[in-house]
Amino acid sequence: MSDNYVKVQLEQMKSLGEPGEKEGADNEEQVPASSPSADPPSITISTSDVSNASITSKQRGKSRRKDDKISSGKSISDLSLQGSVVSAPAGKNLNRQSQERTLQLKGSGKSLQGKSENNGNYVTIHPSKNNQEERREEAMKLSKKRRPVTVDTAKAKTSLEAMKISIKQLKWKEFPLGRRAPCDIYWHGVSFHDNENIVSGQVNKFPGMLEMLRKINLSRAMRTMQELFPDEYDFYPRSWILPEEYQQFSTQIRMVKEKDATLNPTFIVKPDGGSQGDGIYLIRDPSELRVMAGSQAKQSVVQEYIHKPLLIDKLKFDIRLYVLIKSLEPLEIYIAKEGLTRFCTEPYQEPSQKNLTHVFMHLTNYSLNVHSGNFVHSDSQNTGSKRTLSSVLYRLAAKGVDIKRVWSDIIALVIKTVIAVVPELKVYYQAEIPPGKPGPTCFQILGFDILMMKNLKPVLLEVNSNPSMRIEHEQEISPGVFEYVPSPVDEEVKVGVIRDTLRLMDPSLKKPAVSQLRAGGTEIPMETETPAKSLDDGALPSLCLKQVYPKYTKQFNYLRLVERTAALFIRFLGVKGNMRLGPTAFRTFIRTCKLSNSNFTMASVDILYIDITRRWSGAAPDSREAGMGLQAFVEAFFHLAGRRFKSLPLREQVLSLLELCEAQLDSQSSVEDRRSVSCSRALSRAVKTQTPGLTSNPQLSSPAPLRRAASQDNRLQQKLKPRSLRANVEN
Ligand code: ADP
Repeated sequence: MSDNYVKVQLEQMKSLGEPGEKEGADNEEQVPASSPSADPPSITISTSDVSNASITSKQRGKSRRKDDKISSGKSISDLSLQGSVVSAPAGKNLNRQSQERTLQLKGSGKSLQGKSENNGNYVTIHPSKNNQEERREEAMKLSKKRRPVTVDTAKAKTSLEAMKISIKQLKWKEFPLGRRAPCDIYWHGVSFHDNENIVSGQVNKFPGMLEMLRKINLSRAMRTMQELFPDEYDFYPRSWILPEEYQQFSTQIRMVKEKDATLNPTFIVKPDGGSQGDGIYLIRDPSELRVMAGSQAKQSVVQEYIHKPLLIDKLKFDIRLYVLIKSLEPLEIYIAKEGLTRFCTEPYQEPSQKNLTHVFMHLTNYSLNVHSGNFVHSDSQNTGSKRTLSSVLYRLAAKGVDIKRVWSDIIALVIKTVIAVVPELKVYYQAEIPPGKPGPTCFQILGFDILMMKNLKPVLLEVNSNPSMRIEHEQEISPGVFEYVPSPVDEEVKVGVIRDTLRLMDPSLKKPAVSQLRAGGTEIPMETETPAKSLDDGALPSLCLKQVYPKYTKQFNYLRLVERTAALFIRFLGVKGNMRLGPTAFRTFIRTCKLSNSNFTMASVDILYIDITRRWSGAAPDSREAGMGLQAFVEAFFHLAGRRFKSLPLREQVLSLLELCEAQLDSQSSVEDRRSVSCSRALSRAVKTQTPGLTSNPQLSSPAPLRRAASQDNRLQQKLKPRSLRANVEN
C-alpha cells in the first residue's frame, strides 16, 4: 500500500455498525434472510479524498471487539476492504464459529485463551496478554527453524511475477523449473492437469473447475438452484442454453412482448467457451441470433441484459472479486477484501437499436476497452479505467450508498454461487482422487465478475476459474510498439490475494494433531502450529482474505440440497474414476432407497433412466462417457420427489425425498456395520489381522449390492477426457 494512503472511517458507515450499538433492529431490517449482515468496512482512500472522513486507529480497536461478538454467534460480519486495515488477529478468523475456552497447557502452567470449532476440528490458542510477547518470540524462533515451504511454479504462466513477489515476501522457496522431489505446493496456470502424477502436496486448481465454470455449465447449475430457491438465486440473470433451448427462448420472448408491447428487452449472447468478451453481442429479438445461422449451431448462453447498471462518471463498470475455495470437504470459502473494478470507456446509454454494437459502452472487459482511445492507465487506485474496489465503494459511500448492505449482498451472492457448483465439483474430485488413491489436496482462487444494478443489487455475470493474475499491462510506447509495464493497481490487489492464499495453505497449519488438551472435560485436537501463530507473525500485513464459510453456515446451509443429492449419486457411482451412473446402479439406488412400489415399478424406473439419460446425452454431445451424469440424476431425483410428495412445493419435495433416502441408507449401513462387525470378529479369530484403512474408504465399505451394480455398470463406462482448456482471463 503506498504511503500517501490513509485509513479512514466513513462517517456514514459509523452510524451503521459501531460496537456497542444495537445490532438488532436496523441491521435485520435491511439484510435479507439469507444474507450475512456486514460490519462497516474500513476503506483505504487517497489523501486527496480524506476531507470528510475520520482516521481509524480507534475504530480498529473497536472493530476488533465487534469481531469478538461475531464469534459468540451474533450475525455481523467484519469485511474490511483492505488487508492492512483488518483489525482482528488473522487466526481468529479461522475460528469464528467457536466457543471461547480457557485452556491449561499441561506442564507449562500457562493459561491460554482458546477456541474450539463446533466440530472440534481446529483449535486456536490465543495467548493471554502477559504472554503475548513471549509467544511471538517462540513463534519467530519456530518459523526460523522450520524448513521453508516449497512451491513449484513451473506451470504458473502469467501468475509467475505475482507468485515470485509473494514467495519472496513469505521467505518460502520457489522452484521455477519444477523439482524432482515433491513440493509442498504446485501452482498451475490453467488446470489441475497442468502437471500430471502429483501424488502429494497441494495444487491450486480443483479437477473439473474449468469445465464446471464454462458458461453453459454454470448456467445449468444456477438454474437448478433457481428452481429450488427462486428468491435466493435471483441474482443470476435469466439465461437460455443454445441451441437446445432456442424454442423456449423465442416462445417466452414472444409471449412477453405480446403481453406488453412497450417492453423491448435486450439480450446478451455469449459463446460457451468464450472469454474476454470474445464473440459476445447484443440482440433484441430471437431472430437476430447469429448462432442459429449455420448448420453447425454454436453452443452459447443467451441472457437477459441488465439494462440499468449502476454508473460512475456516467460509465458502466463491473467488479472482479477474488474468492478462495480453500477446501471442498468441509466447504471453506474466503473472499478478498480488495478487488478490481473495470470501467467502460464510452458513456453508457440504455440499449437501443443504434447503440447495440457499441462494445466500449456495453462491455466492461479490460481486454476490449484497453484498445479504446479513451482507456486511462492510472497509477492511482481511484481513477482510470481500472480501479480498486475499495476506491469505488468509497465513492459510493460518499454519495450516501449503504455500503454495508452492498457488501453483505455480495458475500451472499458468492456463497450461494459456490454452493451451486460444489455438487458437480465433488463428482469430479471423487473421480480424479478417489478415497484411498494418493493425490494432492486442492484449493483455488476464482474470479467473480459482478455487475451492480442501478438499484444497488449485485448481479453475477460469470465466474472465472483462471482469473488473470498478471501484474503488468500492455502499453503502446510508440505507434505499433507494445511493451509490458508494471500496473500498480493490479500488483496491489493480486499480490495480496496470492500471498495470503499461500499463507492460508501453509502446510505447517495442516499438521496432524499431536496432543490433545482437555478443557472442561472435552478433548480438543491441537495442531502443532496454530493458525494464529503462523498467520500473525508480525512481519506480514494482516490477511486480506476473509473467511465467509463456514462462518455463515447457519444462514446458508439449507441451500445445500443438491449437494446432498450429489452425495447419493457419488455413493451409487461406486467405481473409482466414474462420473456417470449406469442403469444397474440406478436400479440399485431405487431398490436400496425403497423408492419403487406397485405404482412405480422397476420397468418404469428403467424407462425413466433411459428417457433422462438420452436427453442429457443430447445436451452434452461431446461427452465421451455413457450413462447418467449428476445433472441428469438431479433431474431424475426431482422427478421422483415430485411423484412421491405431490402436494408439496419442489424444495420440500426434494428435502423429503432426501431425508427418506438418507434414512434408508443409514439403516442399511448399520445393518452392514453389524454384519461386518460379526464378520470381522470371525475374520480376526481366523487371521488375527485387519487391513488398516479398509473401513475409512467409503467405496470399500459400501454395501455389497452397490459394489456389484457399479462393477456391472463399469463395463458401460468410458473414461472422460478433459475438455479444451481456457487461458487466464482478466476480461
Ligand atoms: P466474458 O467471459 O467473455 O468476459 P462475460 O459474461 O463476463 O463474458 O461478459 C462480458 C461483459 O459483458 C461483462 O464484463 C459485462 O460488462 C457485460 N455483460 C455480461 N453479461 C451481462 C448482462 N447479463 N447484462 C449486462 N451486461 C452484461
